[in-house]
Amino acid sequence: MTPKPQTATVLDRRVVLSSLAGPLVATPFANAFAGTSLAPGSGAGRSKSRLILLGTGGGTTPKTNRSAPAQVIVVDGASYVIDCGNGVARQMVLAGLKLASLRGVFITHHHSDHNADYGNLLLLSWAADLASRVDSYGPPPLAEITRLFLRMSDVDIRTRMADEGRPPLQDLISVHEFSKGGPVMRDANVKVTAALVDHPSVMPAFAYRFDCPDRSIVISGDTRPCENLVRLARGADVLVHEVMYLPALEALIASEPNARTLREHLLASHTTTEQVGAIATRAGVKTLVLSHFVPGGYPFIADEVWYDAVRPFFSGKLIVGRDLMEIF
Ligand SMILES: [Zn+2]
Ligand SMILES: [Zn+2]
Repeated sequence: MTPKPQTATVLDRRVVLSSLAGPLVATPFANAFAGTSLAPGSGAGRSKSRLILLGTGGGTTPKTNRSAPAQVIVVDGASYVIDCGNGVARQMVLAGLKLASLRGVFITHHHSDHNADYGNLLLLSWAADLASRVDSYGPPPLAEITRLFLRMSDVDIRTRMADEGRPPLQDLISVHEFSKGGPVMRDANVKVTAALVDHPSVMPAFAYRFDCPDRSIVISGDTRPCENLVRLARGADVLVHEVMYLPALEALIASEPNARTLREHLLASHTTTEQVGAIATRAGVKTLVLSHFVPGGYPFIADEVWYDAVRPFFSGKLIVGRDLMEIF
C-alpha cells in the first residue's frame, strides 16, 4: 500500500522533489498565515510541547562528550528537528523518539556541524518506517543538497523499495528554501518564524522561533550578537543559544593546525558567555539554555564554569545544556 502524504499548510518557496531527474517545481513566497497564532487551549493546540537537546557540541570535529548540534521539538506526536549534526538519527532514538514521527526538518545554515546528517536523518527515518510526508526548510542550496543526497542513495532506496515494500522516499519530501527572514510554516502544532542572523561568512544563516500551543521556543543557530535574534526571541519562554568560552579558546585553537584563521572566524561569528547573557536579558526570555558549546570537547569545561560565566549577565532561569536533556 502506498501511504498518502499528509496535507500541510504551504508556505514559502516550495520545492517538490517528485522526480530525481525532473525539474524542481517552485511556487513563489506566500505569506500564508500572517497574523495567525496558536492560542493555548484552542482547537488542536492543547498539546504540551517537548524540547529535547539532541546534540550540544559546537563544531564539526566529533567529540566524546557531546554530539553535534541538533534539537527536536515534539508536539502531539510530531517531531520537528532543528539542525542535523552528525548522529542526529541515533540521538533521536536515544531520546526515545520514533524516527517515523519526523514531520519537519529545519536547517539553520550550511555548516557541516548543522547539516552533515540532514540526508541521513531522512533516509534512516524512512528505513525505520517513516511513511508520511516530511517538510524540510532552510537556506539554499537545500533543494540541491536533498536531490543530490537522494541520487547518492538511489541504490539503497530502490533496493529497499523492492525488498521491503517501502514507498519512494523522494515522494515524501518537500523542500522549502528561503533567503529572508519571516514566516516559515504553520500547521496544527506549531507556527515557525525565521530571522536572519549574523554568522559570517555563511549567508544566509537563520534562527527559528517555534510558537507552540503551550510556549514559545527560539533556536539561535550560529550567530554573533545580533539584533534580529533579540527581536525574534522577544518575550520567548525558552531561548536555546550558542555559546563560546573565551578563556578556553587559546587551548582549543592551539590544538588545531589552522589556528590563526580559526581564531578570527570564531571571534567574528559566535557569541561569548557574557554576550549571550546580555542578549537573553535584552530579549526578555524566561529561560536561557546554553548549547553549541565552543569548546564543546577539548578542553573540557565543567557545567559550573559555563553557568558562572553567564549568570552575572542574565537573571532568569539558566540551563547548561547536555545531550538528551529535556527542557521543561
Ligand atoms: Zn556550528
Ligand atoms: Zn556555523
